[in-house]
Amino acid sequence: MPVKLIACDLDGTLLGADHITVSERNKNALLEAHEKGVKIAVATGRTLSVIYGVIEQLPFVDYVIYSNGAAVRDLKTAKTVYKEYMPENVAADIFLFLLQYPVYFEFYHNGAQHCQKGCEKYFKGMDLPREFLEAYAASTVMDDDIMPYTQKGVEKINLFYFEKEYYDEIRNYLFSYAGIDCTSPVAGDIEMTAKGVDKSRALAGLCKTLGIKSGEVMAFGDADNDLGMLEFAGYGTAMANAADICKQRAKYTTLSNEEDGVAVAVEKYALGKKPRLLVSACLLGENCKYNGGNNQNDAVTDLKNDFEIVAVCPEYFGGLPIPRVPSEIVNGRAVSKNGEDLHAQFERGARKTLYIAEESGAKYAVLKERSPSCGKGVIYDGSFTGALTEGNGITADLLIKSGIRVFGESEIKKLLDEAEI
Ligand code: SF4
Repeated sequence: MPVKLIACDLDGTLLGADHITVSERNKNALLEAHEKGVKIAVATGRTLSVIYGVIEQLPFVDYVIYSNGAAVRDLKTAKTVYKEYMPENVAADIFLFLLQYPVYFEFYHNGAQHCQKGCEKYFKGMDLPREFLEAYAASTVMDDDIMPYTQKGVEKINLFYFEKEYYDEIRNYLFSYAGIDCTSPVAGDIEMTAKGVDKSRALAGLCKTLGIKSGEVMAFGDADNDLGMLEFAGYGTAMANAADICKQRAKYTTLSNEEDGVAVAVEKYALGKKPRLLVSACLLGENCKYNGGNNQNDAVTDLKNDFEIVAVCPEYFGGLPIPRVPSEIVNGRAVSKNGEDLHAQFERGARKTLYIAEESGAKYAVLKERSPSCGKGVIYDGSFTGALTEGNGITADLLIKSGIRVFGESEIKKLLDEAEI
C-alpha cells in the first residue's frame, strides 16, 4: 500500500542529539513526501508551545499529535481535531498528591505548558543542553494556583528528575493509580495522561478523520510511548537507537536519529528510492586495480538491483596512477613495494571517499577485502608475500570511524539483512 501519512516522534527520532535540530536530509525527505501528497504529522510527548522551534524547521507539517496523544492540532486551520483530557477528579488527585513533595512537575493545557509557581526550584535537568533548557523555561506559564485547570482540561502531567528519597513512594502511587497511564521515557521522569491515551489512539483518530487506513501510515519512534504507534502503522519503523521492545514489535528498523534514520526509511518506503551504497570500483569491473585490471564480482554488481551504487577508488582519488606499483601497510604507513612512502596519497583518497559518502548520503559500503585502502578487518601484512594480518585499510578505517557500515564482498548477505533489503 502507498504511504499516505507519516507520523514521526521527535526526541530520539526526528531530532538530533541536541533535541532541537532536524537534519537537512530528514527535512528534504519529508518535504519531498509532502510535495507528493503525503500528510506529515509529528507525534510528541511534549506540548504544542514547546515544539514551535521544530515546526519552524518543517513549515509544511500538517498535524501535531501532542501531549502523548491527548490532542491533535491541524496546523493549517489551527483547530484541535482530536482530544482526550484527564477527568477533573483524576487531575485534582494527582495535583494534590504531587504538591505534597519537593518535586518539579508541569502540566499541559490547550497546548501550553504550565507549572505551579515555586515548583520550578526543584527542576534538576541541568545535564540537558543549555539552549534546550532556556527554550523550555521561556515557554512555561507559572500559575499561582493550578487547581482551576483540573476543570478547564489537563492534557498531560510530567514529573521530572525527582529525588531518589521520594522515588519509590511517588512512583508506586502513580503507577498504581487506576485513572491514569504512566510512562517513563527517560529514567527519573514520569509522564501521565488519562487512562488509555496514547499516540496510537490519536493517530487512529487522525486517520479516521482523513480516511486513511493504518496500512497506509508510516510511523517512527524510539521509546515505549511510541510502541502503540509503531504497531498500528503498516510501516511502523523503529530507530536503531530505540528501546529493544520497539525494535522487536515494529515492522522495520532504520538507522539511528543521528544517522538520518527517518530520511533513510522515508526515501525507501514512501518515495520508492533505493538506498545509496558505496562500492569499490574494482569490484564493479572498473580497471582501477594496481595492475590495470579489476576484481569484478557478480554478487556485488547485482547489488544495483537493490541500491543506487556510488563507485569509488580511493587510491585513484588520492592521485595514484593506473597501473601502479602495489602497496601495503608497513608499520602503520602505506608504502609501495619499491619502498616509496605513499601514505599522504592514501589518506587523501580516504578523505575524498568519505566526502563522497557524506555528500551522497550513503550509509553502507562494500569494499574490496584485504586491500591496504579498502580492506576491513584483515589486510595484507606488509611483507608483499600474500600473508595477511588483522587491521583495516586506510579508507575502510576512516569510513568505519565516521559511522559508515562497511562490508567485504563476501558479506553481501549480512549487508542485505542489515539494510533490510
Ligand atoms: Fe579497488 Fe580499493 Fe584498490 Fe581502488 S583502492 S583498486 S577500489 S581495492
